[in-house]
Amino acid sequence: MSQHPILRRCVACRQLLDRRSLWRVIRDHQDGVRVDGGMGRSAYLCQREACLEEARRRKRLQKALRCQVPDDVLAALEQRLRNATDVTAEAN
Ligand SMILES: [Zn+2]
Repeated sequence: MSQHPILRRCVACRQLLDRRSLWRVIRDHQDGVRVDGGMGRSAYLCQREACLEEARRRKRLQKALRCQVPDDVLAALEQRLRNATDVTAEAN
């Protein structure tokens, strides 16, 4: 069986990428905007500082989800980026 990657478009750079390599931000019907899990409208974002900044500056997640996105959602993604960078730095 061939495994086609499921492609999703980053809301910042507009590239189509494998869904597994993107962050998923969901406007959950009950819990509001969340990262990774939930039921509802989704927006995808590259795990890159440039795309995170672009999304923050131009309110791309807000536009894609058609709602307000709390600062802590963006802060959580930024933290993940930091953690990932730290791991890389330690490996060097
Ligand atoms: Zn991107």
